[in-house]
Amino acid sequence: MEYVNCNLCGHDQTRVRFPTTLPEGTPPQNVEAFRCTSPGYGRHHTIVQCQHCGLLYTNPRFEGGEILDSYVAVKDPLYLQERDGRVLTFQRHLHPLEKIKAPPGKLLDVGAYTGVFVEIAAQHGWDVRGVEPSQWAVEQARERGLHMIEGTLATSGLAAGELDVVTMWDVIEHVADPLGEMQQAQRLLKTGGLLVVHTMDIDSWFARVMGSRWPWLMEMHIYYFSQRTLKAMLEQAGFTVVRIEPQGRYLRLGYFATRIGGFSPLLGRLLGGAFRWLHLTQMPVPLNFGDLVTAYAIKT
Ligand SMILES: [Zn+2]
Repeated sequence: MEYVNCNLCGHDQTRVRFPTTLPEGTPPQNVEAFRCTSPGYGRHHTIVQCQHCGLLYTNPRFEGGEILDSYVAVKDPLYLQERDGRVLTFQRHLHPLEKIKAPPGKLLDVGAYTGVFVEIAAQHGWDVRGVEPSQWAVEQARERGLHMIEGTLATSGLAAGELDVVTMWDVIEHVADPLGEMQQAQRLLKTGGLLVVHTMDIDSWFARVMGSRWPWLMEMHIYYFSQRTLKAMLEQAGFTVVRIEPQGRYLRLGYFATRIGGFSPLLGRLLGGAFRWLHLTQMPVPLNFGDLVTAYAIKT
């Protein structure tokens, strides 16, 4: 594992905010923990806060190459079951985006995974591609006829200034160098182009109330932004943030019960049983605790 300086301001003075919950000697590479649907709530390495700018991040952590290798290798059949919920979520996510920039245009979805957003954006008239490191996920997307680039923004081979919109849904908290990722997006966007970043908000009331029990404190999340630190990093990467607001998601009740089960197995089983009994496992429900935010930033 390696120690890293703050990705936002470069300083290295930190204080521990959430001590590690992993037993000593935890195997260094656990691909399971890097699944999108990983139930590893409450399992994480030491999370520190930069004393200079306030950014929270995992430190020490696996090296950047190891982190990427885990995502290349990940397979996640449970995610396919949850496709309906993602479809509803992304359909809703497109509305505020299209109020700022309407199709047609070239859109790139970073960390596109199995291509759910790519497919919806294409239906809305965008000329859309996805970039994704997981070989398994890229295959799933290609089977649906979607235009996918296997790899990362840095290896995508796209030309500078060719894109109208770049989206990063639940991605920036996973990457080794989020500032570098935003700068790559800035390079690929046209002047006036839009970057949309959706991530968790560690400064939200729900995160504050939950403290160390906040479910997003997980091994696979290595950066924990607040609206303030997210805005600051976007500005440092050459963007003007035009809008930043909480944005929830849709889950099917059956899937919701499995997620709760990762947190409290008993409650998960009780809820799962109740939803099955009521024939409600397929019902989509909106979920918004205010602890997920979307930032809309224009390349200036
Ligand atoms: Zn800092």
